[in-house]
Amino acid sequence: MEQTFVILKPSTIQRGLVGEVLSRFQHKGLVITGIKMMQMTEEILREHYAHLVDRPFFPSLLRSMMATPVIVMVLKGKDVVECVRSMVGATNCRKALPGTIRGDFGMSGQENIVHASDSPENAIIEINRFFAPEEIFDYTPLTFPATYAPDERD
Ligand code: UDP
Ligand code: MG
Repeated sequence: MEQTFVILKPSTIQRGLVGEVLSRFQHKGLVITGIKMMQMTEEILREHYAHLVDRPFFPSLLRSMMATPVIVMVLKGKDVVECVRSMVGATNCRKALPGTIRGDFGMSGQENIVHASDSPENAIIEINRFFAPEEIFDYTPLTFPATYAPDERD
C-alpha cells in the first residue's frame, strides 16, 4: 500500500496543534508507519525545498522551518499521497478551503501547519531522506477490514 511523507511544521508545534492535526489523519483511516521529532538543518532544507532555493522568501522559509523541532511522519493508505494533499489544502492557508487542515488551522502562506509529499515519486524520495528503513513499521491494523473493501487492501 502507498505511503506518504508529512511534516508537522514549527507553526503546529508552537501553536499546540499536534494532536488536532494528527487526529485528522487517524480519523481518516490513515496508518502511522513512522513518526519522530527532529531539528531541521539548513542542509536538509536546501535539499527538501530545492525547487524554492532561488525564491526571495527562501531565507524566511529556512528560519521558519528551523524555529523549533518538527515532527516528521510516514502515513500509509490507498492513494494516500493524493488523499493527504487534498486533506492539507492550498499552500496559502487564507485561500485553503474550510475543512482542509490549512483552511481550518492557519492564516499564513508560510506558517502553513504541514508539509505533504506532492507525488508518489517524491514521497519515496522524501521518506528515504528523513527515515532509515528500520524506522518504518509496515503493520496492518485490525481496523483494516472495516476501513477498506478486500480489493482496496493491496
Ligand atoms: N512558501 C512560502 N511562500 C510562498 C510559497 C511557499 O513561504 O510564496 C513556503 C510554504 O511554507 C510552503 C513551502 O514554502 O508550504 C513549500 O512550497 P510549495 O510550493 O512546495 O507548497 P506546498 O507543497 O507546501 O503546498
Ligand atoms: Mg511542495
